[in-house]
Amino acid sequence: MIRIVCPHCHTPLSSAELEQVTVNGQLNLVCPECSVVLVSEQQADRENHSLEAHYADVTESHA
Ligand SMILES: [Zn+2]
Repeated sequence: MIRIVCPHCHTPLSSAELEQVTVNGQLNLVCPECSVVLVSEQQADRENHSLEAHYADVTESHA
């Protein structure tokens, strides 16, 4: 199991314990103890360089 230690409150959390919050269509994983954002979908997109493909997908599902 993946465990993440929150850099803000130092609480050890499993991925199942993180709160999932969607802001402006982006999924964020938030520490339930202090509400700091630990992982955001935007950061993942930058790493994968898949922003254009992501937006193309959204446009197709909308039509
Ligand atoms: Zn925290």
